[in-house]
Amino acid sequence: MSTVKLHPILDSAVPDKGFEPAAANFTGGTLQCLCANDKVEVKIDAQTLHNHACGCSKCWKPDGAIFAVIAVVPRDKLSVTAHGEKLAIVDESATIQRHACKQCHTHLFGRIENKDHAFYGLDFVHTELSPQRGWCAPGFAAFVSSVIETGTPPAQMKAIRDRLHALGLETYDCLSPDLMDALATHVAKQRGVLPKA
Ligand SMILES: [Zn+2]
Ligand SMILES: [Zn+2]
Repeated sequence: MSTVKLHPILDSAVPDKGFEPAAANFTGGTLQCLCANDKVEVKIDAQTLHNHACGCSKCWKPDGAIFAVIAVVPRDKLSVTAHGEKLAIVDESATIQRHACKQCHTHLFGRIENKDHAFYGLDFVHTELSPQRGWCAPGFAAFVSSVIETGTPPAQMKAIRDRLHALGLETYDCLSPDLMDALATHVAKQRGVLPKA
């Protein structure tokens, strides 16, 4: 049995059984920051897409986790419903502007403001912050090698990849092929080497 700790959602999953499947006809829910009082609340009127474990250094992770678990939703399906005054953008210059609670530092949503970006129109969210069940389960692990950048010893990488594979998550050191193809297709269309339609 592996003792590698990745993230509470990943660590609680039973290897070879996978994750609780997404609920049929699930229409969304709320996300809440981790403050004891006056929680920032965000409402999402949709099921998430592309939920995955992310090893990059920028995504929010709960205490002790080396991976984030993050998904996307259309930005017009997301609204701040309580204590928006506590939100601030972590890094205005980043491609994804992560809106975090100034008090507990939880990221409530990440938003791309560059209209030319392939993922413009999608917000990044952590559904572990939701009291509702039925959101999409993680489907792959992205930026796995990047966990070294935040201090994971390289010698642990084989055990980490083995653990992710046992959970049914393919591991990538960038994004998944579908998402990398989407990024490259967007570039090709902007350059005019592929038709826009
Ligand atoms: Zn908070
Ligand atoms: Zn990330």
